[in-house]
Amino acid sequence: MTGVESSSKGATPDGGLFGDGLVAAPPATAKGKRRAAPAGPPSRRVRVLLPIPLDGAGGGAYDYRVPVGTPLPEPGSFVAVPLGGRELLGVVWDGEPDAGLAEGRLRDILGVLPAPPMRESLRRFVEWVSAYTLAPPGAVLRMAMSVPAALEPAGQQAGWKLSAAGELAQGGAPGYRLTPQRRRVLDVMEPGEPRAGADIADEAEVSTGVLRGLADQGLIEPALLPRPRSFARPDPDHPGPSLAEEQETAAAGLRASVATRAFGVTLLAGVTGSGKTEVYLDAVAECLRQGRQALVLLPEIALSSQWLDRFKERFGCAPAIWHSELSGRLRRATWRAVADGEAPVLVGARSALFLPFPDLGLIIVDEEHETAFKQEDGVIYHARDMAVVRARMAGATCVLVSATPSLETLTNAEQGRYAAQNLPRRHGSAGLPEVTVLDLRKVPPERGRFISPPLIEAITETLARGEQAMLFLNRRGYAPMTLCRACGHRIRCPNCTAWLVEHRAQRRLQCHHCGHAEPIPPHCPECGAEGSLTAIGPGVERVQEEASVLFPDARRLVMASDTIPGPAAAAEAARMIQDREVDLLIGTQIVAKGWHFAHLTLVGVVDADLGLAGGDLRAAERTVQLLHQVSGRAGRAESPGRVLLQSWNPDHPVMQALVSGNLEAFMAEEAEARRPGGWPPFGRLAALIVSSEDERAADRVARDLGLAAPGGEGVQVLGPAPAPLSMLRGRHRRRLLLKARRDVAVQPLLREWLSRVEVPNAVRVQVDVDPVSFL
Ligand code: ADP
Ligand code: ZN
Repeated sequence: MTGVESSSKGATPDGGLFGDGLVAAPPATAKGKRRAAPAGPPSRRVRVLLPIPLDGAGGGAYDYRVPVGTPLPEPGSFVAVPLGGRELLGVVWDGEPDAGLAEGRLRDILGVLPAPPMRESLRRFVEWVSAYTLAPPGAVLRMAMSVPAALEPAGQQAGWKLSAAGELAQGGAPGYRLTPQRRRVLDVMEPGEPRAGADIADEAEVSTGVLRGLADQGLIEPALLPRPRSFARPDPDHPGPSLAEEQETAAAGLRASVATRAFGVTLLAGVTGSGKTEVYLDAVAECLRQGRQALVLLPEIALSSQWLDRFKERFGCAPAIWHSELSGRLRRATWRAVADGEAPVLVGARSALFLPFPDLGLIIVDEEHETAFKQEDGVIYHARDMAVVRARMAGATCVLVSATPSLETLTNAEQGRYAAQNLPRRHGSAGLPEVTVLDLRKVPPERGRFISPPLIEAITETLARGEQAMLFLNRRGYAPMTLCRACGHRIRCPNCTAWLVEHRAQRRLQCHHCGHAEPIPPHCPECGAEGSLTAIGPGVERVQEEASVLFPDARRLVMASDTIPGPAAAAEAARMIQDREVDLLIGTQIVAKGWHFAHLTLVGVVDADLGLAGGDLRAAERTVQLLHQVSGRAGRAESPGRVLLQSWNPDHPVMQALVSGNLEAFMAEEAEARRPGGWPPFGRLAALIVSSEDERAADRVARDLGLAAPGGEGVQVLGPAPAPLSMLRGRHRRRLLLKARRDVAVQPLLREWLSRVEVPNAVRVQVDVDPVSFL
């Protein structure tokens, strides 16, 4: 990876360039709280980086004057500044302002916000991510200032509370006329506890207008919200489980690394159920003893109810949590608690990397191989790799955790860049499940069915023993394609190169790329034939339908991102399974991750070949990882587990690796397959994705990029070619792939390359360094 290179310098822009969405103006109520910036003769200048995705000479940093009477803000200070006709929040950045700039072109900063300045380690991280991903610094800064309201002092916000009459009405006293909506509002309120209007409206599922109606009726009244409660301190000496010998060895290694208070990376590998979580929680305890903060990144924080329970058991209280579904108020309180050092442990999604930890001592990346850590839009970055960078800048330990580490991480460990700890056995008496491939050529399902006879038998036996079974198919909905039997027409998305997926429960066809949805048509849209449309292939809904016929008495539960929409639903589903209110679980990849269900002993994979189609660079690796994770859900307690993989390709190396359980050998072969061609991790890749609503414009830019492609020693450009998803959300897409030797820094090449081609406004060129998706 390359070093930091910052290109930000420049003048105050003249404004008028920016849409409303870019303005991060603070709430009006708090304006009076800022230190005033009295007028006076200009004296000193600072550079201010603004959270706007501007590229070019300024790179998002502009010079401003600090008026007399305002103390010179130190680098990292949050300031309000004018830009065009607006007011924006930004950060005083390092580096010298441009002395050559005429005084008359400079404008004054409007004030310094009463928030802890952004630390140097986070400022360097913002620059580094920008330099590495080629995203404008301001676009990266925006991720580090995602909660502008948190920069204002807390405790000012107004909300609503029940009035005396409201409490009576809530209790059911007669004489109050209440619409069902107003009733719901009263039901979600607690006497004497003010709440934010938006939160009330959200929970009661009403518009805020309903609240005004209730206020007019005298049933609720305005009230100041209390200051957010401070975040509890996890107790590192709270009694935890005593670690087995191998676990203790690994934990000691991690603790020693944390105790150095210096940068280091360790791979914590170990089979599913070996106690990796217990081991890294021990490293979190060490970090707490050091008085530093710990960050745990999970790929799907919404699915982490069991993880949170274990954390509470280990430390006596919950950690702070960070994900996209936090309410505005909790978001703000959490951001602020992190900045003030009051949240000693935070568990979050990838965006948590950009929180303002003043003293980060440990970053854990759990399930480090997960592609969910790659952010695919906006600033395109891989949170696993950026976690390593963040740790380096903070002088922290980074632990990458997985039962199936990525080839990138394994190679780093092999070459000594990362330390490694391994847990080869499951904890306690549990063994690893026995994995068998069902050869669908020999034991096919009945016509129009998807579950083969041996799998039916295994489920029947499992259920008869009173144990739980799981059917895994990584596809939402009822069927991935709808075909007309009369004319052969297949129903496609109007905006994307994709088939529409049938969701029978909602009687709709949906595009899983752009969200387009339409009712299932009564006749073929092409030839008009009646009753000729047929569902092709299975999704989880269809497997559930088949299971309802085969196992009518089994209590079934479908878990997919559309049936389990949020953290509460996921927690409830997990509880139902744990409490044995479910016999047969049917799910997509959301059932693969991290769950510990003691009574689940059978896993059936409906289509083990699914991920191998399409054949991108990592298709085999990813299929092994996913199916191994899914398999790892079986037999985690006393009763032994079994896994049946339905496949048309039983001899495929992926199936053989899963059966033998020898993933090291598989990954070694994978490495040998990639090494000669210089594919990652033995070489570097960067993709350019050209897109436009205008197909000819996209082609023109793609062609120009192809003509301007860099060459030379160890550098090669493939394409342009239509992307596999050649149309997405109505945009035509073309791809180019830069492939370079490992010792070539691709960023300067990419910058130079992009500077040589003119890109009209109607065309977008996205840069994806280290691409994970090739769609
Ligand atoms: P992994 O993260 O490797 O999949 P976990 O940490 O989830 O493994 O451990 C699997 C199960 O074994 C969990 O229920 C966990 O609580 C239990 N476990 C692991 N190590 C211990 C230990 N030393 N003492 C008691 N229970 C343990
Ligand atoms: Zn679509």
